[in-house]
Amino acid sequence: MSGVWHPFTQHAVAPEPPLITRGESAWLIAGDGRRILDGISSWWVTTHGHNHPRIMAAIRAQTEKLDQVIFAGFTHQPAEDLAAGLLAIAPKGLAHVFYSDSGSTAVEVALKMSLGFWHNSGKPRTKIIALEHAYHGDTIGTMAAGARGVFNAPYEPLLFEVVRLPFPTDPVATLTALEHEAAGAAALIVEPLLLGAGGMLIYSADVLRQMKAICESHGTLFIADECLTGFGRTGTLFACEQAGITPDLVCLAKGLTGGATPLAATLATPAIFQAHYSTDRRKTFFHSSSYTANPIACAAGVANLAIWREEPVLERVAVLAALQEERLAPFRADPRFENVRRCGTITALNLKVTDPGYLAEQGPKLAAYFLARNILLRPLGNTIYVLPPYCITAAELDMIYAAIADCPEGATP
Ligand SMILES: *Cc1c(COP(=O)(O)O)cnc(C)c1O
Repeated sequence: MSGVWHPFTQHAVAPEPPLITRGESAWLIAGDGRRILDGISSWWVTTHGHNHPRIMAAIRAQTEKLDQVIFAGFTHQPAEDLAAGLLAIAPKGLAHVFYSDSGSTAVEVALKMSLGFWHNSGKPRTKIIALEHAYHGDTIGTMAAGARGVFNAPYEPLLFEVVRLPFPTDPVATLTALEHEAAGAAALIVEPLLLGAGGMLIYSADVLRQMKAICESHGTLFIADECLTGFGRTGTLFACEQAGITPDLVCLAKGLTGGATPLAATLATPAIFQAHYSTDRRKTFFHSSSYTANPIACAAGVANLAIWREEPVLERVAVLAALQEERLAPFRADPRFENVRRCGTITALNLKVTDPGYLAEQGPKLAAYFLARNILLRPLGNTIYVLPPYCITAAELDMIYAAIADCPEGATP
């Protein structure tokens, strides 16, 4: 075992990880030549495929010019171009782009901007509302906004209190709870349409639209965490488009660079910016990370937006959604599975578990089974999901679904 400590990995029981040396479209290639099909876009980041030539070329070109510059008091072209490009495609009404390095920090920034908005307006509000089963990141603040469980039990005493709305299985219950809590709340944070890490749970655009309307009627800020849903995953460029809403704050990460380099952005409305805009320096938005708007990462982001602009990516997304639906359909009648579902390009299905005591073991066991078939899937407990890059072919999807069809016998403990 090397000295590397891997994320979300129990080293006492985890097998030796494959050493990956190359990436190519939907494939990861190990040093020994083994090819692994990437069914989860390398943890939801890779959109157009690994090592996309245009993004790689943009990164190479940027390394010839500027590696890094402090972003307080300085600016650079890739950051300017990416911000302009994002505001041109984001829901109308967003006017400012704040850069950071990961989805967690993009969410932290949104939470801090919400609290700053109310603080600077002289009417402090601090209550945050979130959805049951939510995931917003792994820092203390984002864990507080997310669902509580085994993953954050040790930190629980330090997590701030959040009002939790029931997941909208029954929309009326969710909306009633929100109506009850929204008055005086600083912000509602949601993953629009799809709760990812919470188990690939889907809710309707109509509920999303109504949650926004309730927030608006109480002046409560609306934060859309599009870290996963952004950049086409749900069928539209951003999930919020399907509800026709403009959030006060939008968090973007994962697909922002096509999945090539770490970069995140928090998009804000003029009102949020104005609340921090003052000759009184105490109203400054005091947040930074050393690598804020790293030029190489921004250049990758600019190339990603160019791909979206100049190539028929939304058509690819629609084709992938249809291919996914076709392959998922037979599982709707398969008694071994339940809650068979799809949101845009993402499919998910739950393997029925006879002994719930084994639930915690189910995810790693299934992942090991798929990896033995050279397929990268990483089930969330008994929830198997397929979240592929948009370049995946019909034949490659067939390999994934053949493995899923074969799985229960091989994978149950
Ligand atoms: C992945 C994710 C995050 C955190 O992003 P990181 O880049 O892993 O910090 C936050 N919110 C949602 C909805 C995510 O899926």
